[in-house]
Amino acid sequence: YAIDAKACKFHECAKCVEVCPTKAIELDQKPEQVTLNVGSIIVATGFREYDPSVIKEYHYGEYPDVITHLELARMLDAFGPTGGVPVKPSNMKPAKRIVFVQCVGSRDRRWNPYCSSICCMISLKHATMVKEAFPDVDVTICYIDIRTTGREHEYYYERAREMGIKFVKGRPSEIIHDPATNTLVVEVEDELLRRLLELEADLVVLATAMVPSEDTKELAQILGLELDQDGFFKEYNAKLRPTETKRRGIFICGGAVFPKDAPTTSLHAHSAAVKAAKFLMNGKIVKDLKVAFVNQDYCGNCQFCPVTCPYGAITLEPKGDGHFAAKVSELICEGCGVCVGTCPVGAIELRHLKPSQITVQIKALLSVNGTSKPLVLALSCSECGHAAVDSSGMAMMSYPANVRVLRVPCTGVIQVQHILEAFKAGAQGVMVIGCKPDGCHYEVGSQKAKQKVELAKALLGAYGIEPERLEMFNLVFIEGDKFAEAAKTMTERVERLGLLQLA
Ligand code: SF4
Ligand code: SF4
Repeated sequence: YAIDAKACKFHECAKCVEVCPTKAIELDQKPEQVTLNVGSIIVATGFREYDPSVIKEYHYGEYPDVITHLELARMLDAFGPTGGVPVKPSNMKPAKRIVFVQCVGSRDRRWNPYCSSICCMISLKHATMVKEAFPDVDVTICYIDIRTTGREHEYYYERAREMGIKFVKGRPSEIIHDPATNTLVVEVEDELLRRLLELEADLVVLATAMVPSEDTKELAQILGLELDQDGFFKEYNAKLRPTETKRRGIFICGGAVFPKDAPTTSLHAHSAAVKAAKFLMNGKIVKDLKVAFVNQDYCGNCQFCPVTCPYGAITLEPKGDGHFAAKVSELICEGCGVCVGTCPVGAIELRHLKPSQITVQIKALLSVNGTSKPLVLALSCSECGHAAVDSSGMAMMSYPANVRVLRVPCTGVIQVQHILEAFKAGAQGVMVIGCKPDGCHYEVGSQKAKQKVELAKALLGAYGIEPERLEMFNLVFIEGDKFAEAAKTMTERVERLGLLQLA
């Protein structure tokens, strides 16, 4: 609980201090900055109601009888300012006709394109609360779609209709105030009846969008976390790691990730708490050395790698000679190698897989053929790419034995030079198998690989080699059939093109 400083009489009254059994109230408490030394952080900063005053056609802030759900919730609270009675704020008389307007600032490209997911249920809850307590009050809900996806939520909707709450399918175009009668008029087209309606109301309740809480951007910057396109904290993986972030030890949950109802928020919070507890349990962080490092003598301070690293693991640090050089945080680095493939001067390497080691493996794989078909090298990422190769095997699909697969952490690690080396070592064709660009486990790895494939194709063309000997394939992990198909296609293609003759 918090004390409302505007209403509290502090030491003039101080009754709460006397009655609080745990002595939790300190009336003289002042705001202070506290520094805590912690091993893990859970971001649970929630969301807030969107300020609908920017939506000029609804006149929130101008017409006192146009309110939001939070304001209605205060009225419906038996201990609230109106003792549980919904009233017209303009004259404090009980409201007899209430219109709810859905999707205010949500599902509207002018403001927020997403569905805030909980406002339909909030309106159904508040509308039924009003109808239950005041059966004579006329209640209408204007909606685009009623979304009742949670457990038992559809029953609420059915119950609301049985109680006589009216539903109009349509987004109101304007709310007008009639000063003569102090009445509001909601103009809406009923899409089902194809009729323009003018709904008279004493009170209009806006079901506003739910947006990230204030200062989310600043907090994200401080913690080094990413935000999604709607400004909420972005999870490591929406399906598999929904409360983790790319920052080890920092977890997110509840409305900070996206608007949620109470049961889902509770589940999320449990998940984040368990993850944080597990993280702290050992008392130390155990991490293998599958990380990148920078040879600072070679770094030209081009600043490509800090912006490319999907984990924000690279910073530029002063070298002491007035110049800056990149530095990898081994704690944060996930060893994807995207930075390695990006560095124009080869200043970064993975400790566990140097570019020269990739070249050696390529040469070894292509040193023996043993089939009658031309050799094709498939460079696959360790995520979806290799999982697709694996799933083709598990499903007993066959792909030509002349296709040699080399697994790398992420296709982003591949350099143009590796592709050229493969042709030099005897490959007649090269396939690069990565995740889908919008599903890359290292976000930009697939895109970076695609750029390098295009560059390598241009170079091959300049050397008089058919660029179609090189192809990138973006697969998801279950697409074993597509990998097998691609391997056959590539083999047939290089057979058709004939033997590659390098000078
Ligand atoms: S290997 Fe990946 S995670 Fe590590 S610094 Fe390079 S880009 Fe970042
Ligand atoms: S990409 Fe290479 S040269 Fe550029 S800052 Fe990073 S390490 Fe230095």
